[in-house]
Amino acid sequence: MKNPGPNTRAVHGGEIPDPVTGASAPNLVMSTTFAMDEPAGFSISAFEGDIPYVYTRWGNPTTRVLEDKLAALERAEDCVAFASGMAATAAVMLTTLNAGDHLVISDVNYAGTAELARKLLPAYGISCTPVDTTDLATVEAAIRPETRMIWIETPANPILRLTDIAAVSAVARRHGLQVAVDSTFATPIATRPVEHGADFVVHSLTKYIGGHGDALGGAVLGTKERLEPLRTRALVYFGGVLSPFNAWLIARGAATLPIRMRAHEEGAVRIARFLEDHPAVTRVNYPGLESHPQRDLARRQMDNMSGTLSFQVRGDGAALAERMAKELEIVHYAVSLGHHRSLIYWIDTDAMMDSTFRLDDEQLAHYREYAGDGVFRLSVGLEDADDLCGDLARVLG
Ligand SMILES: *Cc1c(COP(=O)(O)O)cnc(C)c1O
Repeated sequence: MKNPGPNTRAVHGGEIPDPVTGASAPNLVMSTTFAMDEPAGFSISAFEGDIPYVYTRWGNPTTRVLEDKLAALERAEDCVAFASGMAATAAVMLTTLNAGDHLVISDVNYAGTAELARKLLPAYGISCTPVDTTDLATVEAAIRPETRMIWIETPANPILRLTDIAAVSAVARRHGLQVAVDSTFATPIATRPVEHGADFVVHSLTKYIGGHGDALGGAVLGTKERLEPLRTRALVYFGGVLSPFNAWLIARGAATLPIRMRAHEEGAVRIARFLEDHPAVTRVNYPGLESHPQRDLARRQMDNMSGTLSFQVRGDGAALAERMAKELEIVHYAVSLGHHRSLIYWIDTDAMMDSTFRLDDEQLAHYREYAGDGVFRLSVGLEDADDLCGDLARVLG
């Protein structure tokens, strides 16, 4: 079929009925190795072009179903799945950047990404400059002759600050750099970064795409050519391979991604408005609210406002977090996001700065504008919005 819509791509992408049995749902192939018709080499370098199924670290048919489904959703040429979002992130960084190279990276992103860039990459001779990627002049000023890549995350965890992918990609093009976008918070239902000029799209499948909080996974999307080193080097030599069982679970989750994202958005809009009107809440960060400082960019770049928001409260956030952990009945006080269950977590600004971002001056001031002394990150699940509001109202007082 020509140009199927996102719902059809989510359901059917990557899938065909089994040619042997006619099974309509995807098979789960747990085999680690594949019987051959004739002897072949034992190094991946012995193969050219499309690699046959030899060993599951090199490729697996169930994982391939997931990869093809995600490529269809993201409107990207190819996809490589990994064991986690961090395995995907590390794979992009360590196959694209070499000793002597320089990375320009968002100064606010998933904590693990920030720690990888700041704590580990320098040990491999790769330097990085964290910048506020909402400010194009700052991004451009950070570029050096040895810069190879710009890494952005939009919306950025945990303050829901957005970055204009097309604008950053235009800067990158001018300087011959590659752009990687961690699009975990957006999902392909909201934003397809390849359409805005990005070279690599990175997802933690653990979040919305898997959607049920029961499987870790990661993925990188882009052209076949750009992904080739990820498939033949990162996957094979670093070994952060997705279990076929997790691929099967995540593909099953991804099939309902479009309808889940509509429900997540609907719930998040309701709860964001409820929080905005609540006297104990001083600020809500959510791209679906008129009050979001980048509302125009949100409208331009996001077809769905996703289901994660963060908010500041009057008074002692840490003490409220303790009460939440004990007294919330529906919302789980837990890390992670994008599941059908609602999750909330307190993110203290000083602790975040110490362990990961280490911002000061203007960069810290911009973070604090969104986060103050700390934010509650709330991933709105698929429960009834009235029940969620009731649960939160009880502990907010
Ligand atoms: C969770 C997350 C990651 C890391 O993914 P894992 O699957 O936990 O390794 C990376 N980026 C973002 C934005 C995330 O939310």
